[in-house]
Amino acid sequence: MILPGSTIGVLGSGQLGRMFAIAARRMGYRVHTFSPETDTPTGQVSDLEISASYDDLTAIEKFAKAVNVITFEFENVPTKTVEAAERFAPVRPSGHVLHIAQHRLREKTFLKGRGFPITPFQHVASQHELECAIDTLGTPAVLKTAGFGYDGKGQQKLNIKADAKDAFQALNVPEAVLEAFVDFDCELSVITARGLDQKMVSYPVFENAHSHHILDITVCPARISSAKAKEAIRIAEGIMETLDVVGVLCVEFFLTRKGKLLVNELAPRPHNSGHLTFDACVTSQFEQQLRAVCGLPLGSPTLLRPAAAMANLLGDQWSHGTPQWTKALSNPEVKLHLYGKSDARPGRKMGHFTAMAKTPTEAHRLVAAARAQL
Ligand code: AMP
Repeated sequence: MILPGSTIGVLGSGQLGRMFAIAARRMGYRVHTFSPETDTPTGQVSDLEISASYDDLTAIEKFAKAVNVITFEFENVPTKTVEAAERFAPVRPSGHVLHIAQHRLREKTFLKGRGFPITPFQHVASQHELECAIDTLGTPAVLKTAGFGYDGKGQQKLNIKADAKDAFQALNVPEAVLEAFVDFDCELSVITARGLDQKMVSYPVFENAHSHHILDITVCPARISSAKAKEAIRIAEGIMETLDVVGVLCVEFFLTRKGKLLVNELAPRPHNSGHLTFDACVTSQFEQQLRAVCGLPLGSPTLLRPAAAMANLLGDQWSHGTPQWTKALSNPEVKLHLYGKSDARPGRKMGHFTAMAKTPTEAHRLVAAARAQL
């Protein structure tokens, strides 16, 4: 058991680490963050910000020796880095979980092998293999890089076979995955926490709308039947157990028009769709991650009001200068979170709004209206 007063090491330094550090410091822990950057969202609210390359194993060893447990907020950390850290402090979730989740092809192969429902896919390592994969899966299809992709980066939709011309070379990676395009009714996610004692706690299902492959608005609970919600949670908890995760895992799903749940992606850490838990649940996903990796009992995931919503704020909102915060906050039910990033590039996640309400639809209206005021 790693008790309050101990020091937690966080690999990565973005907004997920920032909200984790806020939750950890509130409970009396110290936080050290490690990433190649400086003045980071996590570093700004941590006790110590270490800026070094993930390949700098001497710096990683020094970081690991100074903390009681290591977790991460970003899964694209090299395996060698995690192995070096594991020699001096427990890493939770383990390097094994990270290894699977950071590579789309390994993740899909693992899920398929264990019988979890996933989108049909083919491994592609050449232009010729891409054309064969299209013959098998048909079009439309989505070509994705096998590793190190997020928020739709390294993805291309192929509407007809002719779109595949030169598409593999254009990705400029050794391997890729071709997925059948899913005609979905909605996108969902389940966030589950699992403690050292193997007990699991899941949040109500989140319903996610994306824009240009980036999460736009989440509402909770998802507007689906309770049977489907239970099924999604059962699948997510099954994956959590099979992977033996200690920490937090997000499972993203497509719900097809025929009512079938297909796993799209795993993230073995807090997730953008769970940001509303910070304001809207008894225990946030960040506190849950802290409790899990420290061996503490998990907290209640219950919503404080019947429903909640979150709207992302991307750098695009800054294109005409500083957003109109005062106007957007004129509704006292709406909460603003900003991540302390100074460079508002288009598509960059800068912050979010959350609101609670009696229904998911009303919560959605509140956050969308606040954002429209900007
Ligand atoms: P990903 O990075 O794989 O989670 O993809 C980002 C978003 O792109 C998803 O949340 C979907 O909105 C869309 N997308 C990705 N793959 C597919 C697919 N096979 N079928 C339909 N939409 C997809």
